[in-house]
Amino acid sequence: MARGNALRVARQLTLGLVALALLAGTWLGQRRATSWEETLWVTVYPVVGGEDPATADYVAALSREDFEPLTGFVAAEAARWGVSIEKPLRIDLGQTVGLPPEPPAEPSVFSVMAWSLQLRWWAWRELADAPGPSPDIRLFAVFHDPINGVALPHSLGMKEGRIGIAHLFASRHMRGSNKVVIAHELLHTLGASDKYDPMTNRPVFPEGYAEPKLQPRYPQRYAEIMGGRIPVAPQSAEIPRSLTYTRIGELTASELRWIE
Ligand SMILES: [Zn+2]
Repeated sequence: MARGNALRVARQLTLGLVALALLAGTWLGQRRATSWEETLWVTVYPVVGGEDPATADYVAALSREDFEPLTGFVAAEAARWGVSIEKPLRIDLGQTVGLPPEPPAEPSVFSVMAWSLQLRWWAWRELADAPGPSPDIRLFAVFHDPINGVALPHSLGMKEGRIGIAHLFASRHMRGSNKVVIAHELLHTLGASDKYDPMTNRPVFPEGYAEPKLQPRYPQRYAEIMGGRIPVAPQSAEIPRSLTYTRIGELTASELRWIE
């Protein structure tokens, strides 16, 4: 009896320690990722998400240069917030991979948790034979056929495992706005939160505004990257055409640990 109890206590203690180690690992990883002392390595893995052969051709023609403006955007914004690192990010283009597992249709705490584990397991398997060390951030860019009026699945970025999935249109006209989507999900993986109203898709004032102190308030000149859109009037906001029309606001800067 006493022996059984001792074993049970030992087992619980072990489980507790494992959970603590996992938590500490996540926390340390997050601290390191947002210490902004070393360049973070980001790899974008393209995914063919459409049936049209033109989409596969578009993906095959992608190069690292297509994603390079993201590094310039983050470097310029980091400098604007007084972060002294010269090259906060380095972006590589990884191998083309298959479709990631779909998020649960009816999200609950457990289904989302199970899916998040499934996604990390899928990423690990897909990239098991990728050459070199694994990057700090893995972004899966799913390119869909550019059909007018079709809504794309929701893009997402997770701090856990630092994985993002960006749903994009395989179209040269969308190259600019595609990078805005990728930047948004990339910053989620580093702890930035959404700053828009999910019911209306309009940025929340003041944190979802790039220049909340602008007078008059409308039209705003830029979109706050986690607010997602440029508020042009109290009831209206536009999708930025490129990162040129996008800024990182104060709350996002503090979530990224750029400011205290
Ligand atoms: Zn978001």
